[in-house]
Amino acid sequence: MANKTAPQVEMAKLPAEERKHSFAETHLGYTLEQAMAEAARCIQCRHPYCEDGCPVKVPIRDHIAHIARGDIEGAYELIRSASNLPGICGRVCPWEEQCEGNCVLGKKYDPVKTGALERFVIDYMMEKGPFPVQKAEPKPQRVAVVGAGPAGLSCAADLAAMGYQVTVYEALPVAGGIMTYGIPSFDLPKRVVQAELDRIQALGVKFQFNTRIGRDLTVDDLFNQGYDAVFLGIGANVPKRLGIPGEDLEGVMDSDTFLMAINYAQQGIPGYELPKLRSPVIVVGAGNTAMDVARSAVRLGAEKVQVVYRRSEKEMPARKEGVADAKEEGVEFHLLVNPVRVLDDGHGRVGAVECIRMELGEPDASGRARPVPVPGSEFVMPAGTVITSLGYDFDKVVPGTTPGLSVNKWGGIVIGDNYATSREGVFAGGDVTSGPLTVSAANRDGKKAAAAINAYLQAKAKQAAVPAAGN
Ligand SMILES: Cc1cc2nc3c(=O)[nH]c(=O)nc-3n(C[C@H](O)[C@H](O)[C@H](O)COP(=O)(O)OP(=O)(O)OC[C@H]3O[C@@H](n4cnc5c(N)ncnc54)[C@H](O)[C@@H]3O)c2cc1C
Repeated sequence: MANKTAPQVEMAKLPAEERKHSFAETHLGYTLEQAMAEAARCIQCRHPYCEDGCPVKVPIRDHIAHIARGDIEGAYELIRSASNLPGICGRVCPWEEQCEGNCVLGKKYDPVKTGALERFVIDYMMEKGPFPVQKAEPKPQRVAVVGAGPAGLSCAADLAAMGYQVTVYEALPVAGGIMTYGIPSFDLPKRVVQAELDRIQALGVKFQFNTRIGRDLTVDDLFNQGYDAVFLGIGANVPKRLGIPGEDLEGVMDSDTFLMAINYAQQGIPGYELPKLRSPVIVVGAGNTAMDVARSAVRLGAEKVQVVYRRSEKEMPARKEGVADAKEEGVEFHLLVNPVRVLDDGHGRVGAVECIRMELGEPDASGRARPVPVPGSEFVMPAGTVITSLGYDFDKVVPGTTPGLSVNKWGGIVIGDNYATSREGVFAGGDVTSGPLTVSAANRDGKKAAAAINAYLQAKAKQAAVPAAGN
């Protein structure tokens, strides 16, 4: 019997004082008893609205019923049938807008903590050993996947499970994309990503690292090497610049450079070391990446970390949970403030940032109130480090070296409903087609593109088997 009026079972959390000095995971997950109690709150709706909010359509209602009975392996089978990256999505998805945000109970009571329950199931199974894999009979066709982020990995996993021979080409030295080099381990411990990578490797996917398509090899080279189809999952990873004087001073860096140095140094990847910060640290922007940067700067020992954002708290794109965690850890927020100039400390390094106060005007193209500078409101904030977190543009190298590949006016690769690009045999998905979104959207795109590539290759094989007329 559902206990819908019971309050949500809270997930344990490391105390803020402890978190400030450690990259250990912030939110600690459920025990079996807690998970069963939270699952017992689910009223098992006839129409599971929670699933409407899930990009990969995990059978949430049914797996929660398994958890409530203590059948965690049964819950795992259901989750795995829909997702290649559930342990990761159970941690980093914006549930408050997706599954949990759609929970009917949320209208009157606390919604069921669907994300936390998914995470519990995967953590429980990880404790038992490697995830089991099931593969179909091998097929002769070869597929090249470009980019080892969530889109590429999800596509590669499904194609390999169908029996195709899959090789992933990745520019960086390790797999995972932003999950490995961007999202900090206090939000996403790398052992969770590694467990999914181990499963994908066990499915037979091969990896070729340090290979940038468009520079070391082209898409044409891949076809010339005998690949039957190519999937492009190369993300949107060119950091936007501030475009103000002083941006090239020592001590100004973008969030990718900063987070990659931390993540790769912690993973022992040669050539990377923890960034040295001079305080105060100013983080420009208020998305998830900015929260990751600010909270990482606290952990690296910066005495003062300040987020500067040109709109108000209501418009901040970051998840509420990340903002709350940052505040608990001592990050300061300066809202309705925009930098106009980075000032030299007299030694070619950052010394301060000149800012201007903003007010909100009419909505702009994004639908959010347009920030407008308040004349004469300039002021100076002392700074030793400035880390920009302003969003991302598309890389032009792959489209520039792939004849026949259409891009939109921002440089994103154009795809049809079946994830096919304008170039025969080339498919694409994830941030490179949508612009920066989420891990679960990339996971979904990878799965859908894998199904489309399978349909394409099967149709081609059928065509090749039909004898030519007159033979
Ligand atoms: C710091 C940060 C924090 C985030 N936090 C969250 C979060 O909490 N929750 C959430 O859902 N989303 C979050 N996101 C967004 C999410 O990570 C992305 O939407 C998602 O990773 C996109 O997946 P993708 O596979 O399309 O691209 P990516 O993850 O960017 O992967 C693309 C891969 O392709 C490789 N590549 C690029 N060009 C080439 C080339 N020419 N040849 C070979 N390889 C190439 C790249 O090196 C990379 O490994 C965050 C993003 C950032 C930057």
